[in-house]
Parts: sequence; C-alpha cells; structure tokens
Amino acid sequence: MHWNQTKLKGWGRTCRAVCQVCRPERTEDVAKYLEQVGKNGIIARGLGHSYGDQAINDDGAVMVFRRMDRIRSFNEETGELVCEPGLTLRAVTELFSGRGFTAPITTGSGYHTLGAAVASDMFGSNAHKKGTISKFVNWIDVTLASGETVRADTQNNPDLFSATKGGMGLTGFISLISLTLPKRPAPNLKIRKERCPDLDTLMERLADGRKADICYAWIDTLAKGNAIGRGILTTATFTDEAAKPPLFRMPGIKLPFYLPNFIVNTFSSTLINDIFYRFFASPAEKVLPYEQFIYPKDMFLGWEKTRGRRGFYQFRFSFSEAEGPQAVRRILTEVSRTRAGSFMATLMPLKEESSADMSFPMKGYCLSLDFTRRRGIEEFLIHLETIASEHRGRISLQNDALLEPRNLQRMYKRLDDFKKTLATYDPHKKFDSSFARRLGLKGEPK
Ligand SMILES: Cc1cc2nc3c(=O)[nH]c(=O)nc-3n(C[C@H](O)[C@H](O)[C@H](O)COP(=O)(O)OP(=O)(O)OC[C@H]3O[C@@H](n4cnc5c(N)ncnc54)[C@H](O)[C@@H]3O)c2cc1C
Repeated sequence: MHWNQTKLKGWGRTCRAVCQVCRPERTEDVAKYLEQVGKNGIIARGLGHSYGDQAINDDGAVMVFRRMDRIRSFNEETGELVCEPGLTLRAVTELFSGRGFTAPITTGSGYHTLGAAVASDMFGSNAHKKGTISKFVNWIDVTLASGETVRADTQNNPDLFSATKGGMGLTGFISLISLTLPKRPAPNLKIRKERCPDLDTLMERLADGRKADICYAWIDTLAKGNAIGRGILTTATFTDEAAKPPLFRMPGIKLPFYLPNFIVNTFSSTLINDIFYRFFASPAEKVLPYEQFIYPKDMFLGWEKTRGRRGFYQFRFSFSEAEGPQAVRRILTEVSRTRAGSFMATLMPLKEESSADMSFPMKGYCLSLDFTRRRGIEEFLIHLETIASEHRGRISLQNDALLEPRNLQRMYKRLDDFKKTLATYDPHKKFDSSFARRLGLKGEPK
C-alpha cells in the first residue's frame, strides 16, 4: 500500500490542499487502503475536474480512482455496461458510439470519470430530454467505511442508492457501476445556430429548442440595456442525412500558458463576446458526425488557462419554469450592471428533478456563469447566491466553492434525509472532504 503527500486543487484553482493520496489498481485494494485512514478521513477523486473543494481533503486522505477503469461486461442487446468507476465518459463514447450507443449525457467535456459522474449526478445539453445520469444507473457497488462492499439500487439499500447519486463521495466509494447506454438514433447530428438579440427572444427560442435532442445557449453577459441576455442558441437533432466530410480537421490546441491578467479583463471580454455574437452564428444548418460535435471543450487542452492564473469560480443555478425567466433576468442584469464579466455563460432547459437526494436540476432552466477570481468577486457571488435563493433556485454542488450552509438548507429540501443516510452508513465520519466541512455535512461547518 503506497501513499504520497500531494498538493491537490479543484479545477477552478480557488481551492487547494495538501493531502495523503493513494491510487488503488483494483477493487480489493480499496478496503485495504481504507483500513489505513487517519482521523481527517478520506474522499474519492476521479480526474479532479470538479471546480471547487469537492475532491480535496485538507490534511486528510484522498483516493484517486483513475486507475480502476476496467470494463467488466457489455450487453449489445440491452446496452448494459458494467464497469469500474475510473472509466471516463469520453472512453465510453470512443468505445461504444461505433456500436450504435451513446453516453447517456452529452457534457461539454468527456474528461470525467463515471464514478464522479454518478457521485455528482452529472447532466449535459440533452438534459431536457434525458435528465441526469442517475436515470441510467441500474445499480452501484459501494465500499463502505467498514471496508464491506454492498450493492445499492432501488430494491437493495435504496436510501444508500439515492444518497450516493449526487452525494459527492460522502456515503462511500463507488467501486462498480451498471448503467444502460442509450441507443444512438442516427449516426449524425443536424446542427442549427440562431442569434437571439435579447433575453425574451432567447427564452422563447429556448422553449422551442426543447424539441431538439441537444439544446443550449451561449449568453453575452456584458451586453447592456435592451440587449441584456442576447445570445446564440445551438440545437442539434439526430439525423440519417449524410455529413459532409470536413475540409480540414482542427487539431487539439494545447494552451501552453495561463492568459495574462491584462487580457483576461472586462474590456477584452466585451470585445471577444461581441465578435463571437456577430460572427459565430452562421444561420445555415450543418450535419456533423455525432462524435465530432460533442465534447467541444476538449478541443482546448488546458481550457482553464484561458481564465488567467488567478483561478475562477463557476456558478451554476437551476430555476423552476415559473421563476426562471425572472431570476435569469435579475442575475444577468446584476452581472451587466457591475461589469463583473463572466467569461462563459450558458443557459439550457432542464426536464425534471432527479431521483438523487441532492438533486440539483428541477423542471426549468440551468444558468452557468464563470467568473475570474479578483478582488470583491466572492462578495458579489454570495449576493448572486442570495438572489438565487429568493427565486427558490439551487446552486450546483459539483461546481460550487462558496455556498453557505444556511443557503444549502434552503435550496436542498431533502438535505435532512441525506444527512440521516450519511450518519447511518458512515457513523464515524470516515468519508470527509474540504467541501463537506465547509457545508457542515458531517457535523458543524468549519
Ligand atoms: C471543462 C468542464 C466541463 C464540465 N461540463 C460539465 C457538464 O456538462 N455537466 C456536468 O454535470 N458537469 C460538468 N462539469 C463538472 C465536473 O466535470 C463534474 O463535477 C465531474 O464530477 C468531474 O469529474 P472528475 O472525474 O474529474 O471528478 P472529481 O472532480 O475528481 O470528483 C467529483 C466528485 O465525485 C466524487 N467521486 C469521484 N469518484 C468517486 C467514486 N469512485 N466514488 C464516490 N465518489 C466519487 C468525488 O469525491 C467528488 O466529490 C464540467 C467540468 C469541466 C472542468
């Protein structure tokens, strides 16, 4: 058994910690490592692509699951895949799309492990049709604090099942997953982009976009006055129409350095947003192979470097259909008024709540905003958090680095059930993280 002392960070680089790290190769190793855990507990980690302190444990232990990525079985008839938690969504797409299946969720990047995808109850730009990954999970094997591994599904340990999906690794370690891959209806996607000059138009077009298989909008958060909420709506629908072979294939771009601070500012972002809005929404429809369209963020290796060296926060809200339009307008108006400058803002429709105790989505909308870290930004984001809570919205736990316990209680109605399950399955608080301590999920907040 081998441990390393390592400095780990969240993807936004606003949370860092020195942790004792182990990397099991097989399921049997997991229980052996668990026996050696000290008083500050242990948390699971996949690729560390959650934005904040979810997969770090200050002064404690971290188990990295990346090496446990074996496929145990695949059923060509039903699409049932049984695999270890370190397999990535991207690998699932690469291995199974040629056989007529897709990963259940179309996320911006494919570099997320399946264990983390289940523990974060991830969803993508097909969420208005397919919901979150939870819906596709048949069962999971969870290694508990005692070292015992138990199966959890809707019949066996159902409380553990609903707490582990979206439970951010705090119930135990997911050591095996069975999920059903959906059949791909056609090999290609017909893609349409549409410029929407203001928020009313965007909301109206987004409602129509729900008919497509994939639907999301980019928003220019620096637009002012009547143009607040202007953006580009992208929809994609599966089609048998032939895809035109590309004239050339864009190579993956590896950003070698962090963009300097003088580039990552409000003035440059206004200019970039304006160029993007005017020139990157060709109205013509395009047919592309499915594999070429998904994971747009993976084109830039080191995407986070575009946000500058200081790091950044991602704020992701969900709102009901009734509250959404007003809440989104209020937040975008605040962002525009203060020139807080969010680099990346997206809006997408959501289908429903998931079966997870800590379900983030609700039937309505999801708004995501990235903000570069700078003086005063934390106070501003806490102000946005309050606006969200006034509109009965939720903040996504997998993206968050700032949420306060009082707002967690207001936003997540099944929080008490979740905490009860944590106390049942992990009475001695072996599974712990910087995130859990900040939010008081395993006792008083620290
Ligand atoms: C570029 C980019 C695009 C993104 N796009 C999306 C998106 O489209 N949709 C979306 O929902 N999220 C998205 N995210 C958020 C993020 O990817 C998720 O939070 C995901 O969980 C990260 O995967 P990971 O393997 O890096 O997990 P980590 O960050 O390492 O871990 C995430 C959480 O899962 C837990 N965990 C990991 N493995 C296990 C295990 N075996 N057992 C129990 N718990 C475990 C960890 O303890 C932690 O709480 C995006 C992030 C980035 C950086």
